[in-house]
Amino acid sequence: MEKKTGLRRKSGYIIACVLLLAMLGGCAASKEQKNKEQISEGSSGERTEENNEASHDLFAMDTYMTVTAYGAHADEAVEKAENEIMRLDALLSARDEASETAKLNQAGKGILSEDAFFLLKRSLELYEDTEGAFDIAIYPIMQAWGFPTGEHRVPQKKDLEKLLPLADPSQIICDEENRNISFAREGMEIDFGGIAKGYTSGRVMEIYQECGITSGIVNLGGNVQVLGRKPDQSLWKVAVQSPEEDGSYLGVLSIENCAVITSGGYERYFEQDGTIYHHIIDPATGYPAENGLVSVTVVSEDGTLADALSTSLFVMGKDKAVEYWQAHSGEFEAVLLDENGTIYVTDGISDHFESDYDVQVVCKPQN
Ligand code: AMP
Ligand code: MG
Repeated sequence: MEKKTGLRRKSGYIIACVLLLAMLGGCAASKEQKNKEQISEGSSGERTEENNEASHDLFAMDTYMTVTAYGAHADEAVEKAENEIMRLDALLSARDEASETAKLNQAGKGILSEDAFFLLKRSLELYEDTEGAFDIAIYPIMQAWGFPTGEHRVPQKKDLEKLLPLADPSQIICDEENRNISFAREGMEIDFGGIAKGYTSGRVMEIYQECGITSGIVNLGGNVQVLGRKPDQSLWKVAVQSPEEDGSYLGVLSIENCAVITSGGYERYFEQDGTIYHHIIDPATGYPAENGLVSVTVVSEDGTLADALSTSLFVMGKDKAVEYWQAHSGEFEAVLLDENGTIYVTDGISDHFESDYDVQVVCKPQN
């Protein structure tokens, strides 16, 4: 992407990327290799069950993923997590004609499984909470731009205007008792693309716990969720993605028991006549959201929330995003990068965010 972020490095910058990339990149080794390496040695050199690592790479939800767990039941946990990811992918993908989502979209009505119904209900709540920024009924507009198929085009304004009334989640009718859904307007279609990965990483954490795992991580194409601490009891170090294509990142978060999920226009986009059009749509206009943010990273114990909010805050722009955080600050923290290259970090995570760039800390208003 041509856009320059204008990030300003602190003086005395030292390249500290290597350590972290080693940590995340290390996950790319094959499962077999990992098990050989990891039924290795504890800090005192003895072989332990606690630091037995199982790790597996897979491709699902249009992205490369790595599932890693530690402990005596690590292999079982990783296998079950992988099965769950494949199951959720097959259920939720709007592009897969056999999925529940696609069938609902085709018929305009249908009975959903527990997972899809939960996500739909959660998405409707978040539509209200974010005052329309998070909009799962955006799919007809995504299609008009050609994002699902990759056959990109810039739709005519009048065509987008015709589609806008379909992108209205208040027109989704839910019968709670039977998990029965119907769309009030013909042509409506839903898309869990802004929330499904966070839900999936949350489910992986639940599976780890059911298997008795206390330390594990899942990386869904750069979106990360961790359980507990690392096997040596230190905090996990997670890189906050940068729009720059040189493999750098905005900073490093030290975390436990939470998801770190990033949304940015640079993740999927196309260029036409010198203009860049990206995949996060402002439901108010039908056009890619251009509200001054380049990327949004949300940190929360709730992966589903982190994913939905990373998309929503990106749509809102910096000022509204900050206001939203101030009203919901117990629920999540955030790292925002704006078009001027300024990084904003919310107060609750600022002590756990190390960066080589200048950072502004966002606080709650004083009463
Ligand atoms: P993310 O990478 O989590 O920000 O999700 C982006 C994806 O969410 C897009 O590729 C679409 O599938 C979908 N999407 C786009 N705009 C919105 C929106 N305003 N609300 C909810 N989902 C959206
Ligand atoms: Mg999202």
